[in-house]
Amino acid sequence: MSNSAPALPEMPHNALPREIAPGVFWLGECSPVHYAGKWLHTYNSAFMVVGEKFAAMVETGIPSVGNVVIAQVERILEERGVPLKYIFVTHSEMSHCGSVGRLLRRYPEAHTYGEISDLHLVYPGFEDRIHFCEPGETSDLGGREILTVESVFRDLIHSRWFLDTKERVLFPGDGFAYSHVHDDKECGLFAEEAPKVDIPTQMQRFATLAFHWTGYVDIEPYVQRLDDLFVELGVEVVAPTHGLPIRDAKNSMPIFREGFRGMSDIHATELDIEIYDI
Ligand SMILES: [Zn+2]
Ligand SMILES: [Zn+2]
Repeated sequence: MSNSAPALPEMPHNALPREIAPGVFWLGECSPVHYAGKWLHTYNSAFMVVGEKFAAMVETGIPSVGNVVIAQVERILEERGVPLKYIFVTHSEMSHCGSVGRLLRRYPEAHTYGEISDLHLVYPGFEDRIHFCEPGETSDLGGREILTVESVFRDLIHSRWFLDTKERVLFPGDGFAYSHVHDDKECGLFAEEAPKVDIPTQMQRFATLAFHWTGYVDIEPYVQRLDDLFVELGVEVVAPTHGLPIRDAKNSMPIFREGFRGMSDIHATELDIEIYDI
């Protein structure tokens, strides 16, 4: 951390949780990141899918938003009157798994599934409740299922994506990662509600920060596979961990396609990045 870190900006009232599709909730809150003289906001979101019998979380957020996420989970479970049975994680990075241990302790019936890698070392004592899962596996919530899906765009090699089979909401983890700008009051909005967000540029910046591999591959096969997967799964809504949710996947795809293509050109972006702990 730099000694010359600027003062953190005043954060807006947290717009979350927000029900982004019937029974699908967006949880967490924005985190500020200083980039090239501007304050960007980045989400490390968690989501909750509520069925007739059980609820599932998808991602758990970064540790710094753990208290916020757990309070939101508690409230929704109480309102909906169903227990938390599943905690799905796309991969074992702490911005995705930061509250797994606290949630497993709090909800003794819940198990964690996903690309869980070394989580048994991070959360000792929960080895029997942390499981790898494979694409094609389903978990029943009552009236809807969570389907484990291949991760077309990934951080770790065995990352997993998930789909809510009822509302066709795709949870692509690090796919569709992009920040938004503090001053533009874009927090808590769908991508379609925040037209000022320069999605291709923000996706390129995120690649500069976190997905260097995109600069060393032909990105076209990834874009093509993404298009095919959306058709195969009938994706309607996209709920990325680090971006604003996409309400109309079909019509909004062109701008994100452009974003993915720009991620293969990360060497063209500025590299004088400063990130401050919060
Ligand atoms: Zn991530
Ligand atoms: Zn924000």
